[in-house]
Amino acid sequence: MAADLYKVLGVEKKATQEEIKKAYRKLARQYHPDRNPGDAKAEARFKEVSGAYDVLSDPDKRKQYDRGSLFGGSPGSGGGGAAPGGFSDLGDIFSNLFGDRVPGGGGPTGTSGRQAPPRQRPERGGDLEVETQITFAQAMEGAQIPLTVPTSQGCPTCHGTGARPGTAAQICPKCAGRGIEAEGQGLFSISQPCSRCHGAGTVIEDPCGTCQGSGVTRTVKKYRVNIPAGVKDGSKVRLAGKGAAGRHQGAAGDLFVITRVVPSAVFVRKGEHLEVEVPITFPEAARGAEVEVPTLSGTKRLRVPAGTRSGTVQRLRGEGPPRLGAKGRGDIHYRFVIDVPASLSQEQSEAVDKLSEVMNGDPRSGLFQGTPEPEPAGS
Ligand SMILES: [Zn+2]
Ligand SMILES: [Zn+2]
Repeated sequence: MAADLYKVLGVEKKATQEEIKKAYRKLARQYHPDRNPGDAKAEARFKEVSGAYDVLSDPDKRKQYDRGSLFGGSPGSGGGGAAPGGFSDLGDIFSNLFGDRVPGGGGPTGTSGRQAPPRQRPERGGDLEVETQITFAQAMEGAQIPLTVPTSQGCPTCHGTGARPGTAAQICPKCAGRGIEAEGQGLFSISQPCSRCHGAGTVIEDPCGTCQGSGVTRTVKKYRVNIPAGVKDGSKVRLAGKGAAGRHQGAAGDLFVITRVVPSAVFVRKGEHLEVEVPITFPEAARGAEVEVPTLSGTKRLRVPAGTRSGTVQRLRGEGPPRLGAKGRGDIHYRFVIDVPASLSQEQSEAVDKLSEVMNGDPRSGLFQGTPEPEPAGS
């Protein structure tokens, strides 16, 4: 466990300040950069040792550190015990607290052998969302859409570590690698992400010049996205792993393409189905007719039965949009609407006059009684 500061210095937990100082001096001499010119490993070790000494030589900081490592383990096992595993448990707790997600299943979440992070904890990249506008026809038939996505990628210079090549991230001296700062005493202390390392537990002393230590760089990616047939306005198409690059070599996020469908002038999407308003004349409604209606692939003829009321729906099954992620297609619902002219020619006006003379009866009589008037028996 590289992040156990006592182990870094090779001392026991109950070591005296004097023993800590001795151990530090010995290691510092051994790994000092002057004695190991050009040896990056020695330099990293030297920094690690210095970071540990920085904490353990200060009684206040040491107390805080000890308290922190108790936090994750069992409260009873305090002080003298070696508190094995306390530190890695802590890692779990804080990764939940700070919402940083460990990349997908089966990986480093195993129960045994989990190590506290000696380096920057990998963070999964964020999910990205982009909108793309497609025509109604493209939504019905599917389409391949070129897409330009501003995103981020693992830094090519430092391979995502954020540290200048040849150097490595160091344990944060402020929080001693715990990623948190505690305020107050004992059980009632308040923990917050470390102000120096922002919860990572490590700091980069010598950041990569290309990415300024973030491990990621901005880029623009071009994709051709297959939009499946049947998408709706607002549908999300997921492209796994095409989102933002993960920090510190974490997995990339996903890219969600949200389809914005330009509405059709004719077909209105209603869930799994389409609706089409079909104007018919009063004579067609009264006497019945055969009318031509549009479908997605052409036209069909529909029978309007005699006596059709305005708003009557007829459906053509299986002529509608392809079902996303399922077999078959929805329906098209044709809604017959009796077309009323906004103005009448002289000839039409006379015809309507005649019609009103012969259309007897009051269609509203039922509105003014408890129950509608029964039809006169026998016609
Ligand atoms: Zn870099
Ligand atoms: Zn810190």
